[in-house]
Amino acid sequence: MMTTPISAGSPVAVVGAGTMGAGIAQVAAAAGHPVVLFDAVEGAADKALADLRTRMEKSVERGRRTEEEAQRIIGLVVGCGWLAECASASLVIEAIIEDLHTKRKVFAEIEELADPGAILATNTSSLSVTAIAAELKRPERFVGMHFFNPAPAMPLVEIVSGARTDAEVADVAAATVEVWGKEPVRCLSTPGFIVNRVARPFYGESLRLASDRIADYATIDALFVGSGRFRMGPFALMDLVGLDVNLAVSKSVFAQTFHDARFAPHVLQQSLVDAGNLGRKTGEGFFEYGKSATKAVPQTVAQQVAPANVEAHGDLGWAAGLTSRLLASGVEVDSVPAGGPGHFIFDGVHLVPTDGRTATELAAAEVFGSPNVVVFDLVHDWHNVARVGIARADQADPSVVERVAGLFQAIGCQVSQIDDAHGMVVMRTVAQLAAVAADTVAAGIATASDVDTAMRLGTNYPSGPLEWADLIGIEVIAAVLRNVRHGYGEDRYRVPALISRRAATNQPIRKEIADV
Ligand code: NAD
Repeated sequence: MMTTPISAGSPVAVVGAGTMGAGIAQVAAAAGHPVVLFDAVEGAADKALADLRTRMEKSVERGRRTEEEAQRIIGLVVGCGWLAECASASLVIEAIIEDLHTKRKVFAEIEELADPGAILATNTSSLSVTAIAAELKRPERFVGMHFFNPAPAMPLVEIVSGARTDAEVADVAAATVEVWGKEPVRCLSTPGFIVNRVARPFYGESLRLASDRIADYATIDALFVGSGRFRMGPFALMDLVGLDVNLAVSKSVFAQTFHDARFAPHVLQQSLVDAGNLGRKTGEGFFEYGKSATKAVPQTVAQQVAPANVEAHGDLGWAAGLTSRLLASGVEVDSVPAGGPGHFIFDGVHLVPTDGRTATELAAAEVFGSPNVVVFDLVHDWHNVARVGIARADQADPSVVERVAGLFQAIGCQVSQIDDAHGMVVMRTVAQLAAVAADTVAAGIATASDVDTAMRLGTNYPSGPLEWADLIGIEVIAAVLRNVRHGYGEDRYRVPALISRRAATNQPIRKEIADV
């Protein structure tokens, strides 16, 4: 049976008229609901209404909506001075200060006033939905509706079920936001829900790589954008949202998972926060901003001569697309059937797609019978690649870097040399994102497709981590995690049971995962 959303004419109340409350009120009004907006601070709701008018005027000027539509939306939102005026709402969405005690107190009052059939929802981004509802008389009518900022523009809403949320209430909340033009994903109340939980390694791995001096901030960011097709690198993104805000989320997820090493925050970020370097808002974070700022540039190998021909040995897996790009660029490629790890050979260099082992390890183990080993980092799409990361073995002749750079430059991309670290930059991060995503699915917190949707829409990743893991090959992801774990000797890189099982049977991770 299809779930019926809250009907368009039903009143919605929004409690808290700050950034999120004002945005959510606009979304609900645009969908035709009369909206009551309440804030504890005098004048806050009036300011939100004035801002709404300005936003509507601008959207009319830009041709995004008609004057009539803008007036209709403005006319549907009213501010109120008493919480009691929210009593007639079918749906009450709270977006007040992120504090458990305050939220519990406000919901206790709302529950007394509201219709027993009303749905009460919280927009919390980090608190437990179960804990907020713990003292309510009707916790089954309570659900998380986690909008992203800015609410009118961001398509994703995480519908979060607490331990006692009625499944039908979550269904109605999901159906309602869908009618509002949003894409709902469902999850159980867990630290960070889907997006803020699964995204942690994007920051955590980069912080560790920078702190270990494997590459600088600008190079790491450039690799995520140039080979990973991420919209922004982690350091630019942390500077944008604020290092303090990002660190607070990391600390909260780490504490709430009882210190799971995979989510460990980093002292590098803490020290920048302690120094007051919070990112764009203070003029300096990982990078400098403002007129006198020095622009950080990524490490880039100078232009080199391309090799005339290359041998492609064995199964190249996710790196096979490089072969067709080389052929299209006029480099001759001879394919040589071979066992062992797939690799390219040219000019005395063995060029290997990373599987988590360092080039130095491969050279020491004499896997290719030569010390001249270079590994290269994960590329999302060989037809859309602007930069590739490479690392050479300590035993290799230093000139291998130039020789390999010439090969990648032949297909039109720039090359950054990084230090020889397990799993490099993009591969290691994507493997860790897939690991957290797999654990999230295995624990029944969300379905695989909802995890992927959440990460594409909530963070703009080029692919969801699980579909991406399948494209790379789940056995490769398992090998990368195993090799990185072996390198660091840390539980942080453990292979999730779901990934091990799928790798052992050579099954994609997106297959046969029951929707929960
Ligand atoms: P904000 O500071 O912009 O607004 C909060 C508003 O709540 C303020 O106007 C404040 O006066 C009001 N308020 C505080 N206590 C109140 C009370 N007891 N009763 C009524 N009003 C009260 O904060 P925000 O960024 O809009 O965040 C609100 C909620 O949304 C938080 O739970 C936050 O975690 C969550 N959230 C924020 C974002 C974001 O990017 N800002 C994204 C998703 C979720």
